[in-house]
Amino acid sequence: MIEKYAEFVGEESLDSLFRIAQKLHGISVLHVNSTKEGGGVAEILNKMVPLMRELGLNVEWKVIRGDGEFFRVTKSFHNSLQGQSTWLPQGAFETYDKWQTINASELNTDYDVVFVHDPQPAGLINFKRRGRWIWRCHIDISSPYPPTWEFLKRRIEKYDAAIISVPIFGREDLSVPQFVVPPSIDPLSIKNRKIHSVTAERVLRKFGLDTDRPIITQISRFDYAKDPVGVIRTYKMLKRHVDVQLAYVGSPASDDPEGEEVYRKTVAEAGDDSDIHLLMLPPNSDLEINAFQSGSDVVMQKSVREGFGLTVSEALWKGKAVIGGNTGGIPLQVVNNVTGYLVNTPEEAAHYALYLLRWRQVAERLGANGREHVRQNFLLPRHIRDYLMVMTYVLG
Ligand code: UDP
Repeated sequence: MIEKYAEFVGEESLDSLFRIAQKLHGISVLHVNSTKEGGGVAEILNKMVPLMRELGLNVEWKVIRGDGEFFRVTKSFHNSLQGQSTWLPQGAFETYDKWQTINASELNTDYDVVFVHDPQPAGLINFKRRGRWIWRCHIDISSPYPPTWEFLKRRIEKYDAAIISVPIFGREDLSVPQFVVPPSIDPLSIKNRKIHSVTAERVLRKFGLDTDRPIITQISRFDYAKDPVGVIRTYKMLKRHVDVQLAYVGSPASDDPEGEEVYRKTVAEAGDDSDIHLLMLPPNSDLEINAFQSGSDVVMQKSVREGFGLTVSEALWKGKAVIGGNTGGIPLQVVNNVTGYLVNTPEEAAHYALYLLRWRQVAERLGANGREHVRQNFLLPRHIRDYLMVMTYVLG
């Protein structure tokens, strides 16, 4: 299976991956996060864990549990760490710690290396018995709300290393070594494989889109950070100039309790325009996501905060120019005027969307650049190799 990646990354790069893996043969590795499905972390682990096993490591993936209150707390942590809000539920820190204790008593973390993803399970470090622990941060922690950060920092300081996705997320106030490892997409997955245009069109039609008229799409959870209301505003401005349709495709994540509220606000902003398609697909609708990305004329990721934004690489990989919010990990992927356009407002987004719809050759050129950019930087084997390097470092 892993050999199949040679087609994309070349034999040499696979070889170096095998060589590093050989030194780590038999090492036991645990990944811990807070959801099996929905969102980028689960997406990555689903693909990464089997491949790491294939490389000879004993890898397992466990998910912490919590009640509604816990996930309200962790969502408020998420928002406040990304500098989007200062609101924390009453007793937030106690609730957080209570669930760390519960999870620590239920989950065996007796492994040589433990990757703890994001803030939700970060407190498990207080119950560490052995092994090397790495905090893998997928969010933007460059300008956090200080009380939340201080609370989390006391836990992160106990790790052997931290991994961030983008250099600007690096924190001078952390004494643990910080590594920069951008995430990746799996080119062999159903979500990212090349599909026939007939398949893409069939799926789009199934969801009520008219494939004879232009389509702009954003794929993302209903989350304020993804700016769904800004996406609708962009569409409305664009609609004055071109007969376009909008698809906003989201699916729920079990660790994101805010989704419904954001969905309702997005529906209200959309009004009764039948060319706006707000779709809630079940998790694992991979072929559908592929079809929306492959079959759209323009793909947007108009986030106002973004750890990385896998959806950007997913769309670039399908040869689509991307209009992306100028934040977090998006500028790593959207190189202005090379693979797409970086924007700060709906006005800018509408301007560039119109430009790409009118100048198809430009859209195609940027899309082709985008695919090559992803091929060189954001495919799964590179990501695994980087993790193995960090593991080599912490194991000493
Ligand atoms: N995704 C999906 N269905 C949806 C919305 C998103 O499968 O309805 C996937 C998307 O294709 C991507 C991941 O969920 O693989 C989202 O990762 P990203 O890094 O873009 O954002 P996050 O949700 O982690 O903030």
